[in-house]
Amino acid sequence: MTGLAARITAEGARLAAACTACGACVTACPMTPFAPGVDAAEPRVAAGGMRALLLGEGGVAAEAVAWIAACTRSAQCNAACPEALDVALMMRFAGMRARGATGEAPRYATRPDPGWSSRVKAFARVTLTEEEQAAWL
Ligand code: SF4
Repeated sequence: MTGLAARITAEGARLAAACTACGACVTACPMTPFAPGVDAAEPRVAAGGMRALLLGEGGVAAEAVAWIAACTRSAQCNAACPEALDVALMMRFAGMRARGATGEAPRYATRPDPGWSSRVKAFARVTLTEEEQAAWL
């Protein structure tokens, strides 16, 4: 695995290694009512599943996948994390992995959007150095 997929995998795993799966981010999240099963489960279930997904472990709970799919990037999770992790970024990485961006089977269906990649690249060219563009785009 190379390029952006490798970066998503490595950075996600690095952050997840510091996560205790305490569930504070899940408790703070405004989207759990829209994620089937999350409010009915212990917050640790969704948090632990997110961590497991980022670490490439098996047994990712369905509640975790539902929580990741419902994320709207409010970032209210960040202030709640006692480990001062960038949970919003972890959720972003988790969403990418859950959608199959790193070569794994997708865990939930997404709407086809053929213009997405070119829009991302257009924005990335505004902020990335030429070396970063050569490596990641
Ligand atoms: S609040 Fe932080 S340490 Fe706790 S589960 Fe969420 S990311 Fe992990």
